[in-house]
Amino acid sequence: MSETLDILILGAGLVGSSLACALEGRGYRCALIEASPASAAPPGFDERKLALAAASLSALQALQVLPGLATSPFPIRRLHVSRAGDFGAVRLAAADYGRKAFGGVVLARELGTALESRMAALRDTRMIRPARVVALRTTDDAIEVDIEGVGTLRSRLLVAADGTRSFARQALGIGTQEHDYGQTLVVCSVACERAPDGTAYERFTSQGPVAMLPMGAHYGGICGVAREDAARVLALDDAGFADYLQQRFGWRAGRVVRVGKRSAYPIVRVLADRLTAPRAVLMGNAAQTIHPIGAQGFNLGLRDALTLAECLSEKQDPGSEAALARYVAKRGEDRERTLAFSDGLARLSANDSGAMRLLRSIGLSLLGNIPDLASPVVAGAMGYRGDVPALARGGA
Ligand SMILES: Cc1cc2nc3c(=O)[nH]c(=O)nc-3n(C[C@H](O)[C@H](O)[C@H](O)COP(=O)(O)OP(=O)(O)OC[C@H]3O[C@@H](n4cnc5c(N)ncnc54)[C@H](O)[C@@H]3O)c2cc1C
Repeated sequence: MSETLDILILGAGLVGSSLACALEGRGYRCALIEASPASAAPPGFDERKLALAAASLSALQALQVLPGLATSPFPIRRLHVSRAGDFGAVRLAAADYGRKAFGGVVLARELGTALESRMAALRDTRMIRPARVVALRTTDDAIEVDIEGVGTLRSRLLVAADGTRSFARQALGIGTQEHDYGQTLVVCSVACERAPDGTAYERFTSQGPVAMLPMGAHYGGICGVAREDAARVLALDDAGFADYLQQRFGWRAGRVVRVGKRSAYPIVRVLADRLTAPRAVLMGNAAQTIHPIGAQGFNLGLRDALTLAECLSEKQDPGSEAALARYVAKRGEDRERTLAFSDGLARLSANDSGAMRLLRSIGLSLLGNIPDLASPVVAGAMGYRGDVPALARGGA
């Protein structure tokens, strides 16, 4: 333990890796620790389809990550939000807001590969992998972490980006509020009779949400299934699942012709009671794991990372109380509003009471018909909420 690092990032998932890119050139000596073996991608770099807000695309461009994508993001030019049984539908077009697109869709695996290739060129961050943190201690001026089979590292700030079941969060004594939505999301590629035209569909049903994201010639399909029904749905053969999806999503894109390999994700919400502890900060899924229904999880975690990098750009002690307090203050509004938005969508869409249905229908109709009412929602969905980090403002 000869040196003291400035910033030690725990977890090289999408958020920890983005933070390493955002810290480059700010004058800090950083290390990024990842438990998974170098021969395999970190667990979050998988087949899930990510809708990235316009603000996130601007930031990933500024961080020199987007050019490394094997496939450019598929633009979301229109949003169509509806609910089975309700008469309203929201139809929003980016062009009505003077934009080419609300955001774009990428495959998490390809975004992960682009982040890895950008990280290979970073001078300020050293990657330590495979390495699992198994203990940590805080002193007045640093935090020490024990890495299995490697030894102990000392840093002035620890960033816990180690995911939903964060070891660091627990070791720092930060509790959580948890809610199990009782849903499993089934994700796969879907080919429909009508090829995508840039419209992203979100359909709420009492069994859970269904989203179809435009991805070139096919859709990225995401289908929420009640947990008790998940095993049955996952066991369906392709033709059976195509029929099931058709019945859940309807005919907006014509007949479901083909479905790809399916992956399943049980959905829970896990919110940390606080974002910091002495010399430590939580971000990404370690700070808040939310329902993917509003496509906000990584978008929000990326803004965590950008904000921290911007809070630390003045070359002061990165783990000082003042720096951490500044970070918490800057994240407050965006975090609160994004959590409320995602949880509200998840709960509202699941509530089938008559009054709720009526409110929802009226709400959807109003949103669809009065552009001014929709614009705060649109701005939020595009990633412009609260104190927007400068790197995300590129296209705002
Ligand atoms: C089906 C689905 C669809 C989604 N769609 C969207 C979307 O459209 N838009 C959007 O913005 N978000 C979306 N999300 C959310 C998004 O995927 C997550 O918010 C994001 O991947 C979280 O990244 P993370 O880096 O915080 O955490 P993780 O990906 O969990 O990364 C944590 C990393 O820490 C490492 N680690 C853990 N413990 C240790 C340890 N002790 N020592 C060392 N390393 C450790 C792990 O190996 C892992 O690599 C979706 C999620 C799902 C499940």
